[in-house]
Amino acid sequence: MISFSVDLLKKQDIDIQGEEPPSFLDVGNSEMISFRDNVRYKLHISLVSGGVLIKGCVNSGYEGVCGRCLEHFKGEFGTSELCLFYENVCGAELDISEDVRAALVVEIPMNCICGENCLGLCPRCGCNLNREQCSCEDTDDGNNPWSELNKLKL
Ligand SMILES: [Zn+2]
Ligand SMILES: [Zn+2]
Repeated sequence: MISFSVDLLKKQDIDIQGEEPPSFLDVGNSEMISFRDNVRYKLHISLVSGGVLIKGCVNSGYEGVCGRCLEHFKGEFGTSELCLFYENVCGAELDISEDVRAALVVEIPMNCICGENCLGLCPRCGCNLNREQCSCEDTDDGNNPWSELNKLKL
C-alpha cells in the first residue's frame, strides 16, 4: 500500500519512496508477458491551493516474448511524470495505491518487442535475423524468374 499522513502534510512536504511486490500491479501474467519485478516509486507530495499535488515516478519491469523474433527478453516500463491531484482531502491517512497502480498499468507496452531495431524472423526460413543471416534475401532479387512478373502487376 502506498499512503501518507495528511496531518504531516499540513506541516511540510512529504517525500516517499519504496517498493511494492509484483502483485501490486494486479495484472495477470500471460505467455507473452509476465510481471515478476517489484514496483518502485518515488513521490513528492505537497499541499497546494485547492488540494494535494503528487508528482514523481513509478516503474517496474516485465519479461516478455518479442512479437517479432519470439525471443524472451526483459523490459522496463513506467513514468517519471506521474501527476496526481486530490481535492478535499480528509482523514488522517490518504491511500493513493489505486491511482498509482492505474498510472503504471497504462505504461505497460502494448507492442511487446525486444528492441526498436529487432530484425525479427525471416518470413521464409524462420531463422532469427538478429543472430544469423540467411540466404533468402539473395535469391529474392536478381535471378528470381518471378521478379519480372511482379513488376508487371504493379
Ligand atoms: Zn525481437
Ligand atoms: Zn531466411
